[in-house]
Amino acid sequence: MQKCVFCDIVAGKIPATILYQDDKAIAFRDIHPQAPTHFLVIPKQHVPSMAELTSEHKDLTAHLISIGHEVAKREGLATVEKGYRLVINYGREGGQEVPHVHLHVIGGRMLSGAMG
Ligand code: 5GP
Ligand code: ZN
Repeated sequence: MQKCVFCDIVAGKIPATILYQDDKAIAFRDIHPQAPTHFLVIPKQHVPSMAELTSEHKDLTAHLISIGHEVAKREGLATVEKGYRLVINYGREGGQEVPHVHLHVIGGRMLSGAMG
């Protein structure tokens, strides 16, 4: 497998501000935050993209989403008044740069209504 920056974070080889982890997943702050709160939730296993996140991984996918909400709760965002946005980028036009599937959780300011 090619070198993967997120696998290196999982392995503790490169530092990250970790907000949550368990045996299957880890959440950490994005190094270039797009909003006051911006963290990523990733599976510990190397799944490159949405294309490989198949129905075989449906429990894992649900787990990633629920971690996103739980960590957003700790960050004070999980209320209707505050709120946050979940984003998964895929492919060139979708803007995926790191080839290890990840959920962006973004909030802490009024987000633009534009989706892209
Ligand atoms: P993508 O464009 O692939 O959906 O998003 C990749 C995200 O990973 C970007 O928001 C980028 O800032 C973040 N990122 C890339 N390298 C690192 C890193 O080494 N550490 C952390 N914490 N975030 C990273
Ligand atoms: Zn990886």
